[in-house]
Amino acid sequence: MTARKTQRLSASRPRDLAEAARLLREGGLVAFPTETVYGLGAHALEPLAVRAIFAAKGRPSHNPLIVHVAEPARAQALVTEWPASAQTLADAFWPGPLTLVLPKTSDVPDEVTAGGPTVALRCPSHPVARELIERVGAPIAAPSANKSEHVSPTTAAHVLADLDGRIDAVLDGGQSGLGIESTVVWLSEGQWRVLRPGSVTQQQLHDVLGVAPRPDLAQSNVSASSGQGTGAERMPPAAHASPGLMKRHYAPAGTVRLLDAATLARESDHLMKTQGSLGVLLCGEEVPVPSGAHGMRLPRDPAGYARGLYAALRDLEELGCAAIAIQAVPEDPSWAAIADRLQRAAG
Ligand code: AMP
Ligand code: MG
Repeated sequence: MTARKTQRLSASRPRDLAEAARLLREGGLVAFPTETVYGLGAHALEPLAVRAIFAAKGRPSHNPLIVHVAEPARAQALVTEWPASAQTLADAFWPGPLTLVLPKTSDVPDEVTAGGPTVALRCPSHPVARELIERVGAPIAAPSANKSEHVSPTTAAHVLADLDGRIDAVLDGGQSGLGIESTVVWLSEGQWRVLRPGSVTQQQLHDVLGVAPRPDLAQSNVSASSGQGTGAERMPPAAHASPGLMKRHYAPAGTVRLLDAATLARESDHLMKTQGSLGVLLCGEEVPVPSGAHGMRLPRDPAGYARGLYAALRDLEELGCAAIAIQAVPEDPSWAAIADRLQRAAG
């Protein structure tokens, strides 16, 4: 990939917003704030622009991107099916942190969907994201604005730490409010399934749709394309088509361990001695920071924890911690998206 000079733009300056939109219209790469995390945007209908995202992030080409639209109604133009359930979810959660996976039209380049027949769509609620997309006048493909497999960015500084010199601009709009990626939902007439947990919980989706999610199919079933008469083409995408499901993802450098409170307290000395240095990420007030370790503490409520999670992981990494021990979070559905990210950080 070619080196680029990365402009620092401010979302509070109309001239900077206009410049960000111009860059995107002309096929450039611009990172911008959303309510979940910062996205790395490119014109979604320009294959070359989309390819540049993969080069800048070092992202494998089999990992599809989410397409962002400024208005809920714009999503329908990009898909060949818009089931009643899609409308129900869009009415309930858009603009917001929910992504819908549906069959794509031929307007959507294969680069966006990693060659697959479906496209992931989202209408973000962040006013800067919406204003930017509106000004571009086209849908924007945007994965999280980090190096592939690294921790997602929740500030413009995080974006620059990973991508300075690799993208055309970052539009600074302050800290991302939610701090965790969108919930990704696959749906078809009368059926749905969460592919990646996020701020919108499975229970919320169930309540709004009134039907239970399609039970998890055995992976071999899901990826089998032979299933004659079983409507295999109607089945939810397999894990390889859904990179949020890759085992190690959202990960800081170093050894990451996910431990319950007692094990963390017991093993911290050993980890410090064998790894050289230790950072701990604690949940709530109950566990003290082991002496000699770098400690970060996040609140014991899912919203507050999600908001601070990625910044805390990046801070521990910056402190040079060779090992990071993360205290396990409560086993409650309201923590599902966080537990998912922690498991992936620990690989
Ligand atoms: P990120 O790179 O953090 O923006 O993550 C993008 C996520 O969108 C991935 O983790 C995928 O799970 C999901 N995704 C995008 N497109 C599709 C698709 N066509 N089918 C299934 N999942 C998708
Ligand atoms: Mg990502």
